[in-house]
Amino acid sequence: MKQFSEMGFNEIIIDNLKKAGYETPTAIQDQAIPVLLEGRDLLGIAQTGSGKTAAFSLPILQRLTEQKAKDGLLVPRVLILVPTRELSTQILKSLETYGEGLNIKSCAIFGGVKQTEQVKALKGGVDILIATPGRLLDLMEQGHIRLGKIEIFVMDEADRMLDMGFIDDINLLIEKLPEKKQTIFFSATMPDAVAGLSYDILNNPKRIDATPASSTVATISQKVILCRKVDKFQLLKKILKEEPTELVIVFTKTKNMADKVREYLIHSRIPATVIHGDKDQQDRDKALHNFKIGSYKVLIATDIAARGIDVQGISHVINFELPLEAESYVHRIGRTARAGKEGIAISFCDDSEKSIFERIQKLIQIKLKTETYKGTPEAPGKWLQDGPIRKVTPPTPGKSQEKSAYLDHSKRQKVVKEGEAKPKAHPGFKSKKKR
Ligand code: AMP
Repeated sequence: MKQFSEMGFNEIIIDNLKKAGYETPTAIQDQAIPVLLEGRDLLGIAQTGSGKTAAFSLPILQRLTEQKAKDGLLVPRVLILVPTRELSTQILKSLETYGEGLNIKSCAIFGGVKQTEQVKALKGGVDILIATPGRLLDLMEQGHIRLGKIEIFVMDEADRMLDMGFIDDINLLIEKLPEKKQTIFFSATMPDAVAGLSYDILNNPKRIDATPASSTVATISQKVILCRKVDKFQLLKKILKEEPTELVIVFTKTKNMADKVREYLIHSRIPATVIHGDKDQQDRDKALHNFKIGSYKVLIATDIAARGIDVQGISHVINFELPLEAESYVHRIGRTARAGKEGIAISFCDDSEKSIFERIQKLIQIKLKTETYKGTPEAPGKWLQDGPIRKVTPPTPGKSQEKSAYLDHSKRQKVVKEGEAKPKAHPGFKSKKKR
C-alpha cells in the first residue's frame, strides 16, 4: 500500500495529514485517491468510519491547488451535497484540517438556521461549497449561488439523501450543473433507486467497494441483550454505571423515547444530552459540543439526527431500541470503532423487536451473541408511559454528579449549557484568510 507521501499530494497537505495523526491511508483512500487524482468519476460504496471524507477531500484540495480558478473568480468550483447539517459541518472541519495553509475557502450551508451568515460567507467568495439540498436550492433561487463553474460534484451518503426524500431537489440541482465535471458518488448501501441515480449521473465510473454495504466493522464487538421493554431503563443504567465506558451513544427509534431516556439518566445522576430532529440547530450544536469534550458521557440520538456524527472516543453504541430498518443498525454501530479503534455495540431487544433482530442478522450475516436480562421488581414504569414525561432540571455538569459518570475531568473544556450562547461563531462558517 502506498503512503500519503507517495500519492502525489503537495507538501502542505502531507504535513497537515501528519499533524492530524494519519499514518497510512485506509482501504477506501488507498483505492479512491489515485482514481480521483486522475480526474475519473467514482462510485464508492463505503460507510462513515471508513475514511471516505479524506478519500474525496484530499484529491479535491490537491486539484484546486494545482489548477487556479479561471478568471480569478471566487465562485464555487466544488459542490459537496450531503443529507444533514451535521455531516456538512463535519466535512467542513475535515477540509479545514487537511487544507490548512492552502488558501482554499470552504463554506457549509444548511437549513434550520437563518441564512444571513451563510449569504455573507458566500459573498466573500468560496471555492468549496458543502450543502444540504433544500437550503442550496433556496439560496440559488434567491440568486446567491450559481453552480455554472462547478468542476467537481460530490454526492455523499446518497442512500440517506434518497431516504430523506430529497430526490426531486437532487434532480433539480443536477440540471444546474455543467455537463463537463468530475462526479464522485458515495453511498453506504446500494438499493435500486440509488443505483439508478448513480447510473444517471456518473460517466464511466470506477466502482470501489471498500466495505460491503451490509458488513459491520470487524473491530466492533457486538451483542444483543434480550429483555422486557420495561427493564430497558434499568439495564441501561446498570451498563453505564458498571461497565468501563468512554463516550456512549444511545440510539432510540423516536424523539419521544430519546427525551425519556435522557430524563431517566439525569434522574439517575448520569450526565446525558440528546440530539434529535425537534431540537433546533443551536441546541444540537451545543449537545454535540458538550458530548465531544466529554462533559456529557452519554449522547442519546435518533437515527437521522445522528447521521454524520464523527466523534472520537465513542467506546459504546447502545441500541436502546432496534431501528426500523436493518441497514440503520450498520450505520448506528459504525459510530464506534472509528479509524481502526475497537468498539462495543450492545442492542436491547424486547419481544416486539425479534423480527427486526432476525433481519439484522440476515443482513450482516453474523449470528449475534445474545444474553438475557431479568430486571428487578422496581421497574421504572413511569418512563414507559405514553407521551412526554415530567421535566426535570438537568444538573450542571461537574457540580453534583458522581465522579465516575465523567470522563477525564482534567481534559474538560468550557461547557455550553443548552439555551446559552455558544462561545464561538457558528461552526458552519469559517472562511479562510482573504486572498
Ligand atoms: P469518515 O469515514 O470520513 O467519517 O472518517 C472516519 C474517521 O477516521 C475520522 O475521524 C477521520 O478523521 C479518521 N481518518 C480518516 N482517514 C484516516 C487515516 N488515514 N488515518 C487515521 N484516521 C483517519
